[in-house]
Amino acid sequence: MSRQKTLVWFRNDLRLRDNAALRYAVDAGEVLPLFVFDEASASELCPGAASRCWLHHSLIALNASLDDRLVCRRGDSLSLIRELVAACDIDTVVWNRCYSPLSMAQDEILQQALSADGLDVRSFQGNLLWEPETIKTQQGTPYKVFTPFYNKGCLKAAAPAKPLAAPGSGLPYVAARPAGRPEDLQLLPERPWHKKFPALARVGEKAAGKRLARFLAGPLEDYVQGRDFPAADSVSGLSAHLHFGEISPRTVWHQSRAAASTAHRENQSGHFLRQLAWREFSAYLLYHFPHTARENLQRKFDDFPWRHDADALQAWQQGQTGYPIVDAGMRELWQTGFMHNRVRMIVASFLVKNLLIHWHAGADWFADCLFDADVANNSMGWQWVAGSGADAAPFFRIFNPVTQGQRFDPQGQYVRRFVPELSALPDKYLHDPGSAPAAVLQKAGVVPGETYPRPLVELKGSRQRALLAYERIRRG
Ligand SMILES: Cc1cc2nc3c(=O)[nH]c(=O)nc-3n(C[C@H](O)[C@H](O)[C@H](O)COP(=O)(O)OP(=O)(O)OC[C@H]3O[C@@H](n4cnc5c(N)ncnc54)[C@H](O)[C@@H]3O)c2cc1C
Repeated sequence: MSRQKTLVWFRNDLRLRDNAALRYAVDAGEVLPLFVFDEASASELCPGAASRCWLHHSLIALNASLDDRLVCRRGDSLSLIRELVAACDIDTVVWNRCYSPLSMAQDEILQQALSADGLDVRSFQGNLLWEPETIKTQQGTPYKVFTPFYNKGCLKAAAPAKPLAAPGSGLPYVAARPAGRPEDLQLLPERPWHKKFPALARVGEKAAGKRLARFLAGPLEDYVQGRDFPAADSVSGLSAHLHFGEISPRTVWHQSRAAASTAHRENQSGHFLRQLAWREFSAYLLYHFPHTARENLQRKFDDFPWRHDADALQAWQQGQTGYPIVDAGMRELWQTGFMHNRVRMIVASFLVKNLLIHWHAGADWFADCLFDADVANNSMGWQWVAGSGADAAPFFRIFNPVTQGQRFDPQGQYVRRFVPELSALPDKYLHDPGSAPAAVLQKAGVVPGETYPRPLVELKGSRQRALLAYERIRRG
């Protein structure tokens, strides 16, 4: 009797360990691993230039783990799968589920079409800890507030299953070797700006595992206190690995729990897993309210009087606002493809509230520049800051970039790293160069308006303007 031949369709699950679809295929017979860069859903997997770079390197790493047998193609997923099914005599097609709107729509089309072709089609739990459909309020509706979602929904449901082991070496591949390598997808931008990204050397499943192990061995100890300080080495840096599925959330969950060997570490690990659950919550929200990728969850924000100011937007994007912590964050993003969470909140608040520019403009820039650009986390993060989302910060909570900088970067290591033109300023004035006496500025080599921009907006006035704008929609 001939063995089952299964096509495994990889998407945001670029790993061997804890990959239920791959595991099923290997246990059942021969395997054809496939990745398709399909324009119909690519904007969810890699919405911008930075994440495409990451994907390029991640596929190279996965291909190496799959003994150079990963078939990579660009085009329409259904047509390509049908072509390979015919060419390689495939009888079964499997994948891990994605939960974002375009991918889910695509899954449904493929499920129906391939089943109608007579194939055995199976999907498995994907890149989340809990299936979004299973977590509901007592009334059977989706949660819109994080804490009950996590405490009453997730933590009361069955615990995430233990991760599956990776299949052993020397997978049973189908005999045919269809063409298509990761490099053929041409995901890297023509201009070589991406070469400066240091993190690109550390992409892929092995790098993700090492990063988690490093985090659990050290930075976890100080996660609760340290996670808000951008200069501290206290966060995991796992977001892009998680987005592309180089490591599964179940692996992160169980290894973090196993690392909670003392009461102190248990507390730290609990906070870390709570942050991981925010990722779960954003995917959950997008699953239940797919329109919120672009539309306000709170409809009153549809009438918000946003400003159109291309010059201000550009100054923000380029880290030239005259507010050091904002500029450091925006330059970190451009130079490294990453930005610390605390700083993401500060720069987002500045754009949306002090500059009164629509959160779409910020989300689009993040989507292009972040390695971890993720439609669910990004739109939820922006709507959270703007006040228009589920369980969002109230609009009137406006971050003051000067006091935020003083509080979360008190010695100024973060600002000095990314805004070197201010590095000789004493800590006292670093986050508010305008407050420094002329002699101090001169000694530090800072010439306002020349070596470093003057503030783009005045904080008190722009805050007042934002509150007035909000008042207009609050009253309806
Ligand atoms: C305006 C804005 C936009 C954002 N856009 C994205 C995005 O496109 N992609 C993205 O992955 N995250 C986004 N975030 C969330 C958060 O900033 C990053 O997940 C986090 O900074 C990643 O660093 P880390 O892996 O070291 O986090 P850790 O603190 O080590 O957290 C572990 C993991 O938990 C998840 N997580 C942590 N905080 C959040 C959060 N607030 N929301 C959702 N998940 C979280 C991430 O998967 C993260 O890798 C955004 C936040 C804001 C305020």
